[in-house]
Amino acid sequence: MSHTSSLNTSAFMAELMAKNPAEPEFHQAVHEVVESLDHFLDENPKYKHARILERITEPERVIMFRVPWVNDKGEMRVNRGYRIEMNSAIGPYKGGLRFHPTVNLGILKFLAFEQVFKNSLTTLPMGGGKGGSDFDPKGKSDNEVMRFCQSFMTELYRHIGPNTDVPAGDIGVGGREIGFLYGQYKRIVNEFTGVLTGKGLNWGGSLIRPEATGYGNVYFAQEMLNTLGESFNGKTVLVSGSGNVAQFTVEKVNDLGGKVVTLSDSSGYIYDPDGISPEKLKYVMFLKNNKRGRIKEYADKYGVKYIEGQRPWGEKGDIALPSATQNEINETEAITLVGNGCKCVSEGANMPSTPEAIEIFIDKGILFGPGKAANAGGVAVSGLEMAQNSMRLNWTREEVDKRLQLIMHSIHKTCCQYGTKDNGFINYVDGANIGGFVKVADAMMAQGA
Ligand code: GLU
Repeated sequence: MSHTSSLNTSAFMAELMAKNPAEPEFHQAVHEVVESLDHFLDENPKYKHARILERITEPERVIMFRVPWVNDKGEMRVNRGYRIEMNSAIGPYKGGLRFHPTVNLGILKFLAFEQVFKNSLTTLPMGGGKGGSDFDPKGKSDNEVMRFCQSFMTELYRHIGPNTDVPAGDIGVGGREIGFLYGQYKRIVNEFTGVLTGKGLNWGGSLIRPEATGYGNVYFAQEMLNTLGESFNGKTVLVSGSGNVAQFTVEKVNDLGGKVVTLSDSSGYIYDPDGISPEKLKYVMFLKNNKRGRIKEYADKYGVKYIEGQRPWGEKGDIALPSATQNEINETEAITLVGNGCKCVSEGANMPSTPEAIEIFIDKGILFGPGKAANAGGVAVSGLEMAQNSMRLNWTREEVDKRLQLIMHSIHKTCCQYGTKDNGFINYVDGANIGGFVKVADAMMAQGA
């Protein structure tokens, strides 16, 4: 999108890139927000005078630490741990932990930055943070994962707390890891508190938390489709990924009468023209969660097509729900998707579309829900888990699901409020960026320098 950048944006970005070298994903995430805010800041000079942009792009605190652990062969291993405490203007730092070999400072800064806006949009009092490690859980035994998590928390515990910073899961961190991390925190601090979310149901977790990101994204897409009088019923849907977000995305699309024909992992994708039925989805959940296997095994079991080394965006679908990872839809894939009739893209992952892909979606006028709005259901239910922990009670499934739907409705409304253009087109990117910004920026101004 750089050719459309104003002088303001270019000057700001040049300074930011010089200050934060070799962090391309962080630059990408900031650039998108700064472009959305360009006119808004001109119209509201108070934010410029208070240097909110300079402040909001500088983490309040960055913690980096050594994580030594011993593998099953008795060998010493060392990974790097991180926690980015990005912004606490509207609540305690909140955001997931990612364990993946690609994790580095720039990736976590992009995720922490996005989280600030996303959490603001949820309507709940949560600041933004993110953390993780370059540790790769793939191929590790349960005991190795446990020893790694214990070592990771042995340093992290001193920086977090239920009113300070509340981590959760992300890629590579699910219920198993949250359990090991929580056990170590409790052992060290000797307190049973809501310091992590995504906990098990019988030890402080919330119903619907595992489902929340996927369900929330489908609810958001449904809100977008509603604006055109459309729905999921009878639609063909392309989903990427096969982890937690993708799984519950498929479940909800099935509930609403849609048909999901693809799933993927980092090795390739499967195409099932009959759709991933509830029965087949059960197998996917077993395959990924219990067996920790690869999606190729789905193709072997059901005799469908498996395409190695590719992403599903060449297939025909009415709706695309990217739910794997950042930059998984490029410009060419965006052109193909739209050319094949895709009318709605809603991001279950964080920043899965490249800036060039987003430009195609917006230029072509299709419905495009950016991750910080569309996938906010996950962290929103984390916020509800925090609320339940504080009250020391548990809401029912119906209660949490109702609140999740209300929150997704409210996020959609905020996007429309700030993103509707003179010709009636809703630019959800601008809407989410401006809507998320205002609440945080006003809180920062109220709280002084
Ligand atoms: N990792 C999720 C996200 O990207 C959830 C974070 C949380 O629940 O704190 O929003």
